[in-house]
Amino acid sequence: MANPTLDMKASRYFYFRELVKSDTAVKLGINNTPKTKAVWDSLQNVATNILDPARDKFGPFSPTNCYRCPELEYAINQGNPDNLKSAFYNWCQKNWKTAAINRDTLTYGSDAWLAYMERKSHPKGEAVDFEIGRPEVTTLKLAEWARDNLPVYDQIILECYNKADPNSGWVHGSMRLDPTKNRKELLTISSTWVTKPGFIV
Ligand SMILES: [Zn+2]
Repeated sequence: MANPTLDMKASRYFYFRELVKSDTAVKLGINNTPKTKAVWDSLQNVATNILDPARDKFGPFSPTNCYRCPELEYAINQGNPDNLKSAFYNWCQKNWKTAAINRDTLTYGSDAWLAYMERKSHPKGEAVDFEIGRPEVTTLKLAEWARDNLPVYDQIILECYNKADPNSGWVHGSMRLDPTKNRKELLTISSTWVTKPGFIV
């Protein structure tokens, strides 16, 4: 069967177009349309099992960021040692087994990049970043709702949340198509990429 189109619905409430939108992709001229059936299927899975239940509970919203094709993921994470906020660079420093992390290690398509990508869920269409956009639904409340109400998920991550501003940050929710691969993992990731188990505020 042919792949869906962006104007088709991925779930009861959400269109594929909302799941691939990216200002950065537009700005950089990157075509963020999925190319494989696995990605389309994963987007549908995430929309149906994470976004639709949130829409039923909290009312209309549009996800901040869902699919990111590999080129877009690279652009966003900037394999650039000068950018200390680069998630890829930080991951390489902690995890990649070479003494020196330099510009050559950080190129698109390098071994380090492929290893980094292997553990990323947005480029597989398996993850969505979302917030509801109403002051009463704080980011922490949304994360706790997801934890307590979604029967299956891979990860729920409270990202870049600062309790001084209860609407700061966003919730990252992910789900894999293979139900045995969903770990039900809860994490907090700070704006400086420090990761802790559970929701730490
Ligand atoms: Zn995310």
